Amino acid sequence: MTVRTRFAPSPTGTLHIGSARTALFNYLFSRHHAGTYLLRIEDTDRARNTEEAIRAILEGLAWLGISPDEPPVFQSTREARHAEVARAMLAAGRAYLCYCTAAELADMRARAEAEGRPPRYDGRWRDRDPAEAPPGVQPAIRIKAPREGKTVIEDLVQGTVRVANAELDDMIILRGNATPTYQHAVVVDDHDMGITHVIRGDDHLTNAFRQMQIYQAMGWQPPRFAHIPLIHGADGAKLSKRHGAQSVVEFRELGFLPEAICNYLLRLGWGHGDAEVLSREEAIRLFDLAGVGRAASRMDYAKLTHLNAVWLRRADDSRLTAEVVERLDGRAAKAAERIRALMPALKARARTLNELAASAAFLTLAPPLPMEPKAEALLTPAARDMLAELAPVLAAVEFISPALAAALRDFAAAHGEKLGAIAQPLRAALTGSTSSPPIDAVLAALGREETLARLAAVADAPRSLNAGPC
Ligand code: GLU
Repeated sequence: MTVRTRFAPSPTGTLHIGSARTALFNYLFSRHHAGTYLLRIEDTDRARNTEEAIRAILEGLAWLGISPDEPPVFQSTREARHAEVARAMLAAGRAYLCYCTAAELADMRARAEAEGRPPRYDGRWRDRDPAEAPPGVQPAIRIKAPREGKTVIEDLVQGTVRVANAELDDMIILRGNATPTYQHAVVVDDHDMGITHVIRGDDHLTNAFRQMQIYQAMGWQPPRFAHIPLIHGADGAKLSKRHGAQSVVEFRELGFLPEAICNYLLRLGWGHGDAEVLSREEAIRLFDLAGVGRAASRMDYAKLTHLNAVWLRRADDSRLTAEVVERLDGRAAKAAERIRALMPALKARARTLNELAASAAFLTLAPPLPMEPKAEALLTPAARDMLAELAPVLAAVEFISPALAAALRDFAAAHGEKLGAIAQPLRAALTGSTSSPPIDAVLAALGREETLARLAAVADAPRSLNAGPC
């Protein structure tokens, strides 16, 4: 059997982080088994669907590197097929026409409520002759569900789950206006798409029983189900805005890398020993449904940020440079070479792309630089004199890290100072701040010309701007 999985989002908003995990699990499971992973857009609720939401799903999946193997199937295009299957069930005696009016159904519901019973259809048209149909009512098609026994699902995550058939009523599969109900459309589509494994959130577990009855009525082989626990906030409540970011696009804007998101989502509710940092290849090799836990997962933003820092360090410098240039609004394009040169040192200190961009911003500025107050305070008259003396030394040294580090050490020794006493004012003059990657790396990235221009700007700055004593 070739494994075929699908991710079946309803395009009602952005791509939620929980949905992204469902997509990832379907993707990894199919890849692990050398199968196929598909996308079905469940866009039958036209009032709530938007083009924009469909685009957000496709873009989000592409960004995460979990695009489907085939073009997406749009559920809304398949209504004729859904109706055809409903009519086939009718012809086979596995479904029947129900002529109940809306008023009758409302009355049935109200009575059940008054008597404290769950609102179920009472089956009044199940064995009734359609010749008794009232005029002017477009009948719905209802499944003739078994009334005795149990419907059992051997779920690959939840284990054996069962419901007494008496608990399930004869649900509508095709409405009077010939549109399919959600449960019916899902089954017909999964069958026609040859889906072998349905991996989805455990909020769909109750749907699985009803869907199973449709498979049985059609004599179709049902897929294996795997209902995975939902993602909750750290406090155990349903993930919501107050917990933090929720959609893939928000995480992207906050400066998270797709590989960090995927690594985090994989580890959230799935484990393989104590492996924490897993590449896509390792994930594909190791992923199985047996490793998925049954308890709800809790979103841990700190852990995600930690993993992002790990993946930032592993990421290619040119790629990170492009991300930083984009975040600095093009003003950084000219400084791309400097950013690229300092990237190994910058990425070792950042946790997100946004932090990385902030730490690289000084490379893009033209002197005189804006000074943080603490940096300004370091540029005392004595420090400025020292920098004025250092400038000709730097004008003569080879501009590579080891040579620069040696020159600074020698300069400090010649002045009876520790390296820090030289490096701190130099850092202030070159970056406008008191923290940066190692000073020799900063110098090498800026290059001789820019370094000397920045030093000259500090030397030329009116002393009155200086926070130190005159
Ligand atoms: N469209 C459903 C959702 O977005 C998923 C249905 C399914 O996976 O069977 O929750």
